[in-house]
Amino acid sequence: MSDIATQKKCSKCGVVKGVEEFYKNKSKKDGYSDQCKICGRQCRKQYRETNPEKIRQEKKRYREANRDKAKLLSKQYREANPEKIKQSGKQYRKANPGKEKQKSKQRVENLPEYYILNILKITKSDILLAEEVLKEFGMTLDQLIAIKRQGILAFRREHGKS
Ligand SMILES: [Zn+2]
Repeated sequence: MSDIATQKKCSKCGVVKGVEEFYKNKSKKDGYSDQCKICGRQCRKQYRETNPEKIRQEKKRYREANRDKAKLLSKQYREANPEKIKQSGKQYRKANPGKEKQKSKQRVENLPEYYILNILKITKSDILLAEEVLKEFGMTLDQLIAIKRQGILAFRREHGKS
């Protein structure tokens, strides 16, 4: 347990934060980027300001490549308020501790972020770009991941795996 880092110091702002405040990066020894998410976004913002035309084209390319996916996800998001689902899940867990069903649900909930991103075909190089495009749909990456988790759970339920 002691060799699993739960905190990390950002190489840019120098603040020690929980690892969830860092983007996953498989090329790093500990699996996380050197910069925290905030610094990563700031860096991205600077890049955006100095390369507006490049960004415009990147976004366009991304949107075209992901048009149907973005539409579908935005629709799913509107239909299924993930906060509510999360809440009722919490209540269910409280009311039904230790159930086999729960274990399956928890397994899905514990699936690492990169695994979900992989299913969504969002690579680490376009995480920030994906965030920007999602923003235009009024959605954050965390919400999208939450929706995908719910989708996996629903799929498992339909196929009798939970
Ligand atoms: Zn930082």
